[in-house]
Amino acid sequence: MAIDPELLEILRCPKCQEEKREGRLVLAPAGDSLECGACRLRYRVSEGIPEMVVDEATPF
Ligand SMILES: [Zn+2]
Repeated sequence: MAIDPELLEILRCPKCQEEKREGRLVLAPAGDSLECGACRLRYRVSEGIPEMVVDEATPF
């Protein structure tokens, strides 16, 4: 299930927001996660719903 492009447009990396960076996210090539290029964290997308939890994000 793909993520809504409009949702992707407004979502920001919570870790970067904490640290006053913009934290734009991009969809990973596999389509199953969102990646933050600034802090190199990947957030899982489960059934179209991104899990925006820093503690559950994985580095890439
Ligand atoms: Zn980030």
